Order: sequence, then structure tokens, then C-alpha cells
Amino acid sequence: MAQTAARTPSRTKSAKRSARGPKYVYFFANGKAEGSSALRHLLGGKGCELAEMTNLGVPVPPGFTITTRAWAAYNAAGRKHPPGLWSEVERNLSRLEGVAGSRLGDAERPLLVSVRSGARASMPGMMDTVLNLGLNDRSVEGLARWTRNERFAWDCYRRFITIFGAVVLGIERRAFDELLERVKAKAGAKTDADVPAPALRELVAESKRLVQARTGQPFPQEPKEQLRLAINAVFDSWFAKKAVDYRRIHRLSDDWGTAVSVMAMVFGNLGDSSGTGVCFSRDPSSGEKRFFGEFLVNAQGEDVVAGIRTPEPLESLEHRMPKVYRQLTAIKDKLERHYRDMQDIEFTVQEGRLCILQTRSGKRTGAAAVRIAVEMVKEGLFDEKPLKPAARREKARQTALLRVEPASLHQLLVKTVDPEAKYTAIARGLPATPAAAVGKVVFDPEKAVEMALREEPVILVRAETSPEDVAGMHAAQGVLTSRGGLTSHAAVVARGWGKCCVVGAGDVVVDEENHLFRAGRSVVREGQVITLNGATGEVILGTLPLVPPTLSAEFKELLGWAQALATTKVRANADTPADAAKAREFEAVGIGLVRTEHMFFGDQRIPIVRDMIMAKEEQDRRKAVDRLLPFQREDFIGIFTAMAPYPVTIRLLDPPLHEFLPKYKEVLEEYTRLDALGINPARHQELGAIKARLEALIEANPMLGHRGCRLGITFPEVYEMQVRAIMEAACEVARRGITVEPEIMIPLTGTVAEMKLTRDMTMRAAQQVLTETGVKVHYSVGTMIEVPRAALVADKIAEHAEFFSFGTNDLTQMTFGYSRDDIGKFLPFYLEKKLLPADPFAVLDQEGVGELIRIGIERGRKTQRHLKVGICGEHGGDPSSVEFCHRVGMDYVSCSPFMVPIAWLAAAQAEIKEPRRAAGGKRHA
Ligand code: PEP
Ligand code: MG
Repeated sequence: MAQTAARTPSRTKSAKRSARGPKYVYFFANGKAEGSSALRHLLGGKGCELAEMTNLGVPVPPGFTITTRAWAAYNAAGRKHPPGLWSEVERNLSRLEGVAGSRLGDAERPLLVSVRSGARASMPGMMDTVLNLGLNDRSVEGLARWTRNERFAWDCYRRFITIFGAVVLGIERRAFDELLERVKAKAGAKTDADVPAPALRELVAESKRLVQARTGQPFPQEPKEQLRLAINAVFDSWFAKKAVDYRRIHRLSDDWGTAVSVMAMVFGNLGDSSGTGVCFSRDPSSGEKRFFGEFLVNAQGEDVVAGIRTPEPLESLEHRMPKVYRQLTAIKDKLERHYRDMQDIEFTVQEGRLCILQTRSGKRTGAAAVRIAVEMVKEGLFDEKPLKPAARREKARQTALLRVEPASLHQLLVKTVDPEAKYTAIARGLPATPAAAVGKVVFDPEKAVEMALREEPVILVRAETSPEDVAGMHAAQGVLTSRGGLTSHAAVVARGWGKCCVVGAGDVVVDEENHLFRAGRSVVREGQVITLNGATGEVILGTLPLVPPTLSAEFKELLGWAQALATTKVRANADTPADAAKAREFEAVGIGLVRTEHMFFGDQRIPIVRDMIMAKEEQDRRKAVDRLLPFQREDFIGIFTAMAPYPVTIRLLDPPLHEFLPKYKEVLEEYTRLDALGINPARHQELGAIKARLEALIEANPMLGHRGCRLGITFPEVYEMQVRAIMEAACEVARRGITVEPEIMIPLTGTVAEMKLTRDMTMRAAQQVLTETGVKVHYSVGTMIEVPRAALVADKIAEHAEFFSFGTNDLTQMTFGYSRDDIGKFLPFYLEKKLLPADPFAVLDQEGVGELIRIGIERGRKTQRHLKVGICGEHGGDPSSVEFCHRVGMDYVSCSPFMVPIAWLAAAQAEIKEPRRAAGGKRHA
């Protein structure tokens, strides 16, 4: 009975709510908020953390957040407010006015608000914000009287017209900036803060005239109308090009939408005891535990993040306002402990009073992510107290592993400027990320995209970057700006990618019109090559040597944790002893693919390979093949030794033979020339023979032609030689006391008959070597599954194969019917039109190709319960694909040596999310 009574009110409340429609607005003020971090999907990152901070007692200005559900309804209705939304906004606005003790647009004590965007995933600067809303010709006078600060009131008003004009009315910001520059010049003001009140008053009048001229309407004076328009504009900014580009780059859903937070303004532009800043609880570039940030005195938040003024380091706040600095330090500690993550905090100081406007987990470089995660484990930040010590340690390590985005490890594997290099820098800016970059200077972001598509490395140089440039920044190797600080959006975004980025290089004067920049006495024109030393912020003319990365102690530690946890093991695709050694350095536990054709190239070998292909008689061919054998054997000895004691999978020759002959067009040209001139008869005859052979071998569609095991079946002496070389090398290595485990892999198998024939041939040749040498070496014979048919008849193929390795490059090609070589012609269009979610050759298509993999594994293991299964296509290094491989029960993934750490981390994360260890079952390395 008591239970029923207790439940009744809430049921009534929710029934009422659903009759009225969904709750669209969440209020927060004075230590109490509706909602919390848990409502990120609904309130967006900014809104949910404002609620969370309010509840934590952090000083946050009061306000309310309009949900993403409201955005969805607005969007579905053709950008119209859903029923009930506006009245809910008005109700919450009245509550806010009550709490603030002032009214929006009031002629005496006007409340001003900010209207801010906030999606569930942080998209720094990609959507719009309107500040100082509520000002009009009357309330500006009231604000001036109330604050006894005329300059401040008019500064707010000119800022409001600018931002409202740009964001809501669609007038380019530059037009307002030009007005400001003119007024500044006229008033002889050095900085924005020096412009006196009368000049600002004049600026407002001119700005309003600009609005009237551009829109044909006066600047809107009605504050509620201003609010409605601003909310809609922020909703719409979800579809701004920069936001769409950012989501495409980060593969974020277009359907999430943005929430909108409306907050009482606090003013950083109220004089020298006011200001605004951004701070990080740890260094976002290196991960070092030091309080890091920037501050601008007498300014509003947009001045810092937009990179318009280059701010002072946070230490200047300590100097100017020690009490505020201490308070801010305590808050950042509290927030970091609460969120158990590095925080990026926006704050404003109004006449000595500190307010926090936003907190979010800070974007960081890959190196910082690793260092922060490892150090937070050591600091006990991830400890869950009720757990016993061993379980607590394990859990903390898992938390750390989940904190690092696998793809961000790429950045740790980037090159930096050779410390031995001697050079003179032409300019120096602030280093936002440690990566170095070399490329041709471009000034136009669109051109950067174009050139990058042609695989030309470029450095994008801008006076200041705006989020509009995001696609160009992404395409460039590096970004250089003459203005802006380390917390400008350019720096924050580039840091998230680990991209080389030097900002605020004051000596760099960009002359976009003439496509050049000046730095001191140097003039650098578009197309000239420069190097950016990301670690120091230096700009250097020409190309400097870059060196490969060295692994930090934290990186090694994290890699060790990942490796210990992962049940899907990681191997490397390596074709040389040097690659194998590199792969071991990154803890690869085997080679998943040696492409033996790469060993056929090289000055000494290619003539022999050509003799082999040109041979008319089998006898001649065998002779050439026998000459290749010692080279192959030496290569295998090197690889086995470098990878010992781990297994090495060697694939027999795959590509069509004409790939080893000179290009037909070149042969034909030379042949025709000699023919016409009637000279060099010997060469002429030789070319004639090559031409004839090329014509005989050439295929309309070589990818689907005479390659893979088809080649081995029609030219058995080639595969026999390769098997002999592998086994002789293995016996030699075993004789030296080194553990060796060759796995001989047949490529492109499609039928059981192919598998059986090639396997019998392989085993005969291998056995012969073992008998001859008398050495015992354990070897196995398996196949690649890269033809869809092979996946479908995997149960039968497994009767003749000891392992499967999914060749997802070919499997993707043949499942989609997209040529690996020609997809570039239509892929960009497909991606833009969202006909494909990603390049299927980079990110495994789990729905289609993945289904074939699933079927292949299931059927293969029906025949052999413990069949060893791996992947060796390019997808083996892609985090989402690795997770898929884990889920479908692969024993290992194999990828290029530099991707190995990424794959380990992705495999560990997959194990944390879907533990396989507990499920038991034998697993191979
Ligand atoms: C594959 O097809 O996935 C594969 C690894 O082989 P290759 O790329 O050499 O065709
Ligand atoms: Mg293949």
C-alpha cells in the first residue's frame, strides 16, 4: 500500500508531462540544477556539465539549457519551434530573471544573456554562440548608468551587434571588424580596450547602419525576439559547413543535433579587475602535470578562443589577481578529481569575482593522452576504493586504457625535426603540438584540400584560423598562424589531431592578396617549401631532416598493459628483417603476412625474375627460379631471426607476372623509336621479345586475373622454389638454435580443389627439404580467405588448411565489386553524399564484408574447432575493425609495424568492452 502511494505522484507527474509534451528546457541556478553529466545526449556537453558543476557548488552563472530533443523536433518540423518550446523558454527566462534580479531588456537593470551551442561530443568553435543578448538602444543606457561604466556598456552593445549580425543575420564578420578598425584608427587606439566610449557609441551607430543596409531592416530591438532568433541561429549552426566538415572528419553523427544553453552574462570587459581565460588542468601538449592556460584582461571569452588577440599566459593572472588564481586552482583540482580526467575550463572574472563558464574533458595530443592516463593511474585517480588492491589496480589500468583514443597513438609515431639539424629560423610562434611538418606554403584552405588530394604536402598559413578552415587544416601537414594563442580553436582542434601547429607567430605577416608572407627580411611565396618545428614553434625555410619517434616510458608502460590484457593478439605485416625488427620493438608477436613478391624486386633480382618470365621452356624457367632461391632464402633467414620465437606467415607469390616486366607503353615507345631509326639491333630484338611477352601476359583486369594460387598452379616451379627457400631458411635458423615456426600461406584460394592441390604441392616440397636436411621444423600450411567464395565454402577448405588469414583488401574489393585501384574516382563523391560511411578499404564494412568473415570463421571452425584465424588486410590496424575482429573470435590481427601499438590498444579496449578471457577457449598467437 505504502509502495503504491509512494509511486503515485511521480506517475501522475510523468503522465502530465507526456500530455504536455516532452520537457525541452532544464534550469540551473544557485547550486541546484535540473539534470547532470548523465544527460549529455540531451543537454549536450556544455549544458550537462553546467548542470553538474552547479550541483557541485562551482560558481556558474545561472541559466537554462534547451535540449537536443528540442533541436530534433525543430529540425523535423522544417526549422520551426515545436509546440510548447517557446512557452517553456519564456517560463525559464522568467525564473532566470527572478534569480538574477534583473530583466532581459530592462531600461534600468537589464539582464544580458549568452546563447551558446553544445553538442554531445565537443566540437570546439564549430558552431555558433551569441553574447551580450538583450541590449538595445534603451537598455544600453540603463546598463551604462547601472554599472556607472559607459564605455563598458557600449563595448557590450557593439560586440552584440557584431556577433548577432554575423551569426543570426548572416553578415560577414569582416564588415564589422573593418568598422572597428576604422574607429580605432580615428581614435588613435592601439587595442580594442583603448577605444573610448564616444567612439564606441559611434561604432554602434555605424554597425546598425550596416545591418539596415544589408538586411533592409533595423537592428532588432525587442529582446525576446533577439532571443528567439539567436536560439534558432544556434540550432541552425549545426549545419554550418565548418560543423559538417568537423563531423565528417571525426565521424560524428549528423543526427545528434545541438543543445542551446542560455546563461546570464558575466563580464570580463569591466576594466582591469576583469578578464577572461581558458585553462587546462594539465598541459594538453605534453601531458605534464602543470596548470596551463591563457588569460586576457578586460576582454570577453570570444577574444581568447577566436584567436583574435594573443593572450597572456595564466601566470599573469596569478600576478594580477592572486586570490582569483588560488580559487581557480582549487576549482580545477576539484573538477579534475570529480571527472577523473584532464579538464579544459573557460572562466571569466568580473571585477574580482570568478565564474566558470564551461568545463569539458580537454583535447590533447596522443603523447599527452598517454602520459596523463599513466600518471593518473599512479596518482590513484582511477582507484575504485571498494575493490581489493589487485582488482583495483587492474580496474585502474583498464580505465587508463579506455582513456586513450587508439588512433591518437599515430601522433606518437610521427616524425620530429632531427635534433642534429642545423638551421636558422625565420620566425617563431607558440608550439601547439610537438609534431614537425614539411610542405609547400598555401594561404587558401580550399587550395590546401585540393593539393592534399594530389598528395602534395602543404602547410596552411593564415593570419588567424577560423573554424571555417577546418577542412583545409585537416588536409594540411601543418598549420601556421600569426595571431592566436595556445587555446585558440585552431590550436585546440589541431591538437586533437596531433597535427603540427604553430600559432601566434607575431613576426609572420600574411599578405593573402599577394599570396605571400613576410617574416623579418624573408618573403615566402605560395608554393615555397617550409618546415615547422612543432616542438619549438620555429618556422624554417626549406626542408629539414625529420627523424622517427622514440617511445616514452609511459608509452611503453601503457603498451605493456594493453598487451597483457588483449586476447586478440597483434602481429605485423613485414617483408624485410628491418620491418620485422621494428615490429618487435612495438611488441608484435609474430608476422601475419610476408608479401614475397616484394622480395622479387631489387636491382640484382629483377633481371632474374624477368628471365624467369621470358623463358619459353620449363627448363629455362627452372634455371631462373633456381637463381632466385638463394636471395629468398637469405631474406627468410633474416626475417625468422628478427621475429624469433614468434610465428611468421609467408604468403607465396601473388601478383600477376607482367607486373615484373617493364611498362608496356615505355617498351613500345623505345621499340618504335629504334625501329624508325634502324639502330641498335640487339636492343631492338630484346625489346621485341619483351613486347611480345607483355602482349601475351597483359590482362584486361589483372586484379581478377592470373594471380595468387592460379599462378602457383600454372607455374608450379615458382611456388616450389619459394617453399624450398622458406624451409631451407627455417632449417638453417633452427640449426642455429633459434625457434622458428613458418606458416606457409596460399593466396587467393577460391575452391577446395585449388587448396588441396597447392597444399599437397607445398607439403611435398617442404617434406623434401626436411628429409634432405634432417632438421626438425614445425611448419603449417594455410590459406588467405580473400575471395568471397572461399568464405562460403570455408568448412570444406578447412579440411585442407591449418589456418585462415582474411585478406580483407581483396575480400572488400570482390564483395563490393570496387576496384582497389580505381575507387578514388568515385569515393570522395560517395563519402560526401553519405552513400558510404567511410572508405571501405580503410574501415572494415562490418555489415557486408564482415558478414562474410563471420560466415568464414563459423564454417571453418565447424570443421576444425581450434582453427587459427587472423586478418592481414589493411583493416588490421584500424581500431573499429580490430574491435570487430575481436568480437568474431579472431586469434590475431596483423598490420603494418607502425600500426602495431594502435592495434594493441584497440584489442585491449575490445577485451575490456567484451571480455573473451572469461569465456575461455584456446587462442593462438
Ligand atoms: C589482402 O587482400 O587483404 C591482402 C593482404 O593481400 P594484398 O593486399 O597483397 O592483395
Ligand atoms: Mg590480397
